[in-house]
Amino acid sequence: MCGIVGMIANENVCEVLLKGLERLEYRGYDSAGIYLANQEERSLVKAQGPIKTLTQKITPTMNGTVGIGHTRWATHGIPSEANAHPHRSEHGKVVLVHNGVIENYQELKATYLKETKLIGETDTEVIVNVIEHFIETEGLDVKAAFKKVLTEIKGSYAFALIDPTDPTHFYAAKHKSPLLIGCGTNFHLVGSDALAMIHQTNELIELQDGEFVTLTTDSIQIETLDGKTIQRAPFRAQIDNDSIDKGTYPFYMLKEIEEQPLVMRRLQQKYLAPSGESLISDTLIQKIAASDRLYIVACGTSYHAGLAAKTTLERWTNIPVEVHVASEFGYHMPLLTAKPFFIFLSQSGETADSRQVLVKINQQNLPSLTITNVPGSTLAREANDALLLEAGPEIAVASTKAYTAQITLLTILADAVARQKGLVEQLPKNLSQALSLVEEQMTQIVEEKEIIHQIVNDFLPTTRNAFFIGRGIDYAVALEAALKLKEISYIQAEGFAAGELKHGTIALIETGTPVIGLITDDATASHTRGNLEEVRSRGAKTIVLTKKSLAQTTDRFILPDAPDYLMSLIAILPLQLLAYYASFERGYDVDKPRNLAKSVTVE
Ligand code: GLU
Repeated sequence: MCGIVGMIANENVCEVLLKGLERLEYRGYDSAGIYLANQEERSLVKAQGPIKTLTQKITPTMNGTVGIGHTRWATHGIPSEANAHPHRSEHGKVVLVHNGVIENYQELKATYLKETKLIGETDTEVIVNVIEHFIETEGLDVKAAFKKVLTEIKGSYAFALIDPTDPTHFYAAKHKSPLLIGCGTNFHLVGSDALAMIHQTNELIELQDGEFVTLTTDSIQIETLDGKTIQRAPFRAQIDNDSIDKGTYPFYMLKEIEEQPLVMRRLQQKYLAPSGESLISDTLIQKIAASDRLYIVACGTSYHAGLAAKTTLERWTNIPVEVHVASEFGYHMPLLTAKPFFIFLSQSGETADSRQVLVKINQQNLPSLTITNVPGSTLAREANDALLLEAGPEIAVASTKAYTAQITLLTILADAVARQKGLVEQLPKNLSQALSLVEEQMTQIVEEKEIIHQIVNDFLPTTRNAFFIGRGIDYAVALEAALKLKEISYIQAEGFAAGELKHGTIALIETGTPVIGLITDDATASHTRGNLEEVRSRGAKTIVLTKKSLAQTTDRFILPDAPDYLMSLIAILPLQLLAYYASFERGYDVDKPRNLAKSVTVE
């Protein structure tokens, strides 16, 4: 969600910041801005809309040896140039960018800014002016005034701040919103995301909550708000600069859908020996095996991945599994069992809704594991254990490869826990080989993508709504398929348990309403076909996706046969493609759907 990139160097930082802002675009934003300063000049440029609108406003003479760039995802105040960051205080003493939400900004405004004229409506503009207020009324220097405001703030923030009169220093701080430092020779960066800095350096240092950093071109000073110095060595981000390029693909989403077979291979190689034995640490597996219930906590697509993996986890490990939406769970926690184990699923590892749950369960000393795509992310650090999805950077806002990677990793985990408990009867002989099969089948589906494109042209070009139905795991996949379609094509799509349709939703069926039936479950295939008949007789246009052994002549897309526990991995692919082509055919920017952000770092 939103993004920050800042730099201090001995030369003009403008180009590096613009490139960083482009790299942050995928996170979702509505406006952007940049501030540059050196000993002689200062420039502040902001624009509503895409980075290229901002770039057009930047003249070649604009120059700064220190600078900050920001992409804003509005939380307080409409998307507009006035509300875009960076924000300069009324008398120009400080310039600030912010990711996050300041919960007590109204109180701070009422207390300190009675005389101040604000130009926008953001919480951030209040903070930059409170800093200036402390400088002017209490005689504090910029750093002290910045630190003082941090002690008064309630909420979440990653801040980067420049003192326009001193381009040799750069300040940043964080609480609940991610911020990293990029290390180089004669330069330093800050960024809310490694991708914003990786074109300059992959030596990164993560900042933790409550930390404050002062950067010069050749020094990094990290401290806590009460002044304790922190020493932290950099880590090397394993992100290959090429993996963040689109190559010849029109959109990242298509590239990422097609990368899924490769991700299957990576997961196999990292977590399974060729014999099929798990390579996950025994201690972690023992901890899970000793629990009496697994609580999967997640949001959006990750929540759907939890639902899709639940059955396999339960069947194989004999441990009951509950899957919860994080934003509900934290504040309305159900009665927990005596030995719960928590699994957090988060592509970015920064999801604020999930993190608030993790904070609470850490307070109760309950065991946890984060499954994420981003090493060193907050949820990865703060859980007792972390496993990485190995999906490579996922740039399209709509998640695809992280979803299948999450289901796969949970399946690998289920296999390992079941073996640990001696429950081997239901397990595949060799999970590694089974995943190789999925890898091939995914490749085959991708090769048939034109069939899906045709389905979109036949059924979805102008429809206002669409329904996905299925039973069992097909229902879990239907939920994800509907989410994908609504996220990027803005078609009002819903996933339903096929049997539930007649208990209410069938009232929505009109002549021509597309209903997509997913049928891969032998036990209920005929029932779902019956439900499709019911909607067809009320005017719906039905489209069946099924597997080979259940196929009938009029079915539109035939999936290869695979064991039940792998079916969600295969079945989601054509449905991701369906969403992709629906968005593409409607002329939308597939990778940057309106109103959405890639990682949701506010509650
Ligand atoms: N709350 C701030 C605003 O609305 C920051 C939003 C963001 O994180 O981009 O401007």
